[in-house]
Amino acid sequence: MSSNSTSPVREFEYKAEMKQLLDLIVHSLYTHPEIFLRELISNASDALGKARFRMLSSDEGIDKSGDLKITITVDKESGNFVIEDSGIGMSEDELVANLGTVAKSGTLGFMEALKEQQKEGQRLDANLIGQFGVGFYSVFMVTDEVTVETRSAESGSQGWRWKSTGQGSYTIEPVEREARGARISFTLKEEFREFAEEYRIEQIIKKYSNFVEYPICIGSRQI
Ligand code: ADP
Ligand code: MG
Repeated sequence: MSSNSTSPVREFEYKAEMKQLLDLIVHSLYTHPEIFLRELISNASDALGKARFRMLSSDEGIDKSGDLKITITVDKESGNFVIEDSGIGMSEDELVANLGTVAKSGTLGFMEALKEQQKEGQRLDANLIGQFGVGFYSVFMVTDEVTVETRSAESGSQGWRWKSTGQGSYTIEPVEREARGARISFTLKEEFREFAEEYRIEQIIKKYSNFVEYPICIGSRQI
């Protein structure tokens, strides 16, 4: 990690395994690029579940404003993709622990399982990524840079922006953010612009995310 006194932006290095993991994901799961959406929706849904639980457990220190929902906004011209939830959000420490640490999730287990499958010449199982808790990184299949803006649902918490190209490091800086939850945004690579089409997003959601308990909006339209 390096920081300097004039800039609030701090840079963190990924662990070595993380680079390897990102390479594996991008190169192994390229036959199922749409998986990124399933994983982002699954994370949003988990975060909403955690927020709901905290709200129901008569916790006073929690921001209860607004609906529990997922909103996806895309722009066909620019290929910009945004998925936002009003879930539990993340503090700065949680960002580091959840999106930057290899030991936290089943990353090593996932890599082992992938290698095993490759060795045996099996078709890669697109469910592996979800099973081992490394789903977030699948977004780097379809983009070169991801920004996460988030504010924890703890009352009065600070907002943070996490940014990474998936190439060995990420940055974190404080941001003004009123809404509780997380907003994940990126520009789709040229060859994945189909995912900026609303009908395509709806198709993928119907296929993989039909069970999600919270409203999902594409733009202003609830599906
Ligand atoms: P998993 O969901 O299996 O834990 P992921 O790689 O998909 O693995 O996500 C890693 C972690 O990042 C999650 O466990 C969660 O703590 C955090 N996270 C990801 N997306 C969000 C989100 N939208 N809101 C809050 N936390 C999130
Ligand atoms: Mg996940």
